[in-house]
Amino acid sequence: SGRWARAMAILKEVDEKSATPISKLRQVADAMTVEMHAGLASEGGSKLKMIISYVDNLPTGDEKGLYYALDLGGTNFRVLRVQLGGREGRVVKQEFAEVPIPPHLMIGTSDGLFDYIAKELAKFVASEGEDFRLSPGRQRELGFTFSFPVKQLSINSGTLIKWTKGFSIEDTVGQDVVAELTKAIERQGLDMRVAALVNDTIGTLAGGRYYDNDVSAAVILGTGTNAAYVERAQAIPKWHGLLPKSGEMVVNIEWGNFRSSHLPLTEYDHALDADSLNPGEQIFEKIISGMYLGEIVRRVLCKMAEEAAFFGDTVPEKLKVQFILRTPEMSAIHHDVSSDLRVVGKKLKDIFGISNTSLKMRKVIVELCNVVSSRAARLAAAGIFGILKKLGRDTVRDGEKQKTVVALDGGLYEHYKEFSQCLETTLKELLGDVSDLISIVHANDGSGIGAALLAASHSQYL
Ligand code: ADP
Ligand code: MG
Repeated sequence: SGRWARAMAILKEVDEKSATPISKLRQVADAMTVEMHAGLASEGGSKLKMIISYVDNLPTGDEKGLYYALDLGGTNFRVLRVQLGGREGRVVKQEFAEVPIPPHLMIGTSDGLFDYIAKELAKFVASEGEDFRLSPGRQRELGFTFSFPVKQLSINSGTLIKWTKGFSIEDTVGQDVVAELTKAIERQGLDMRVAALVNDTIGTLAGGRYYDNDVSAAVILGTGTNAAYVERAQAIPKWHGLLPKSGEMVVNIEWGNFRSSHLPLTEYDHALDADSLNPGEQIFEKIISGMYLGEIVRRVLCKMAEEAAFFGDTVPEKLKVQFILRTPEMSAIHHDVSSDLRVVGKKLKDIFGISNTSLKMRKVIVELCNVVSSRAARLAAAGIFGILKKLGRDTVRDGEKQKTVVALDGGLYEHYKEFSQCLETTLKELLGDVSDLISIVHANDGSGIGAALLAASHSQYL
């Protein structure tokens, strides 16, 4: 029928506009490297902030003692404590708790958010058991993973540049987030010092390095997306501080804000961006990360309903609700292997109230998920390839067969198998001959342990 043909034309158009042939991915990777150079050259020189983390030493394995970490960066925050036993003992014991952030606090006041966090942290500290041991006379120390763009001022201070990922709290912008947290900790009557402020990419890099010396970059694919890597301090023209002893400096790329004319953007991306809390910003993040993938799919389905009556004569009301299709649900739809795609059918009913979908329709929806997630995964692979190029690890130089490991973490990477497999295959394809020198490891909650490790290496008692 005409309706079906119109729906197919919409799908075909999204597919074509989302195409990421390998030649395009190489252009994206090249643009990423160019922007990385520009961001290192001068402050504000690029859309990529290339934030200097003040981490010039990654964990060695010798870290010792009781440390805490707090991870704020998405819909949940996590608190963690770890007893480090040095080179021999390693991670003796660790415990964590995960707490959801009430949505109203994400758009409320700075004190409201930080008081809530400090209160949960105080509760967690109160539950510390006998097998955790703080050295006598010491104050507890914390690594604070704060995964939003911060202008780092030292290892334990930094001002918030802007919120992302659905957070919007006017009075925090421009403030030192460590001072905000410290004040809230004091209001709780808790005796704790924030020893390190990092973001999740830095934490993951540190956690990854603790277990594997070849880890040189870290990528987060969760609610948002970002990456960090180890740069030669001398290759950072905008760094005017002392040259660190290690000769190295960890750089937080803030790649979520990457943008290039080579990115395949569709009308749905432009509309999503225009309706977002941060229009014009975080374009790479908006086509790659978990917060947005389901929403892109919903927007296409909505168009198919409106212009091709794909779900019947009226557009189902719930299909018009922004962000109603979350990426985990999209993933469940994509991974349905039953012969009648009954998971797809059930999800459509549960999420949108759409019943009586035919097998043919369900197949179209699975294909749409494939289009949206493949573009994301392939672009993420291109981004990683861009970092490897910047590191000079995209080819074998002078016959030197240096191994490089990239630590990956985040719910999207961890749980969306089609996505992570596509990313890994694409990276291999981009790397060609050197692909056996590069590996990806899943740094499971690397960022929590990484922040605690960095708190240890920046302890006031060293
Ligand atoms: P955050 O990025 O908020 O710190 P996570 O790394 O745990 O937290 O990532 C959570 C995000 O991962 C969710 O917002 C969601 O987009 C994505 N995600 C979680 N589970 C799945 C899943 N099963 N399939 C696809 N995406 C998922
Ligand atoms: Mg996280």
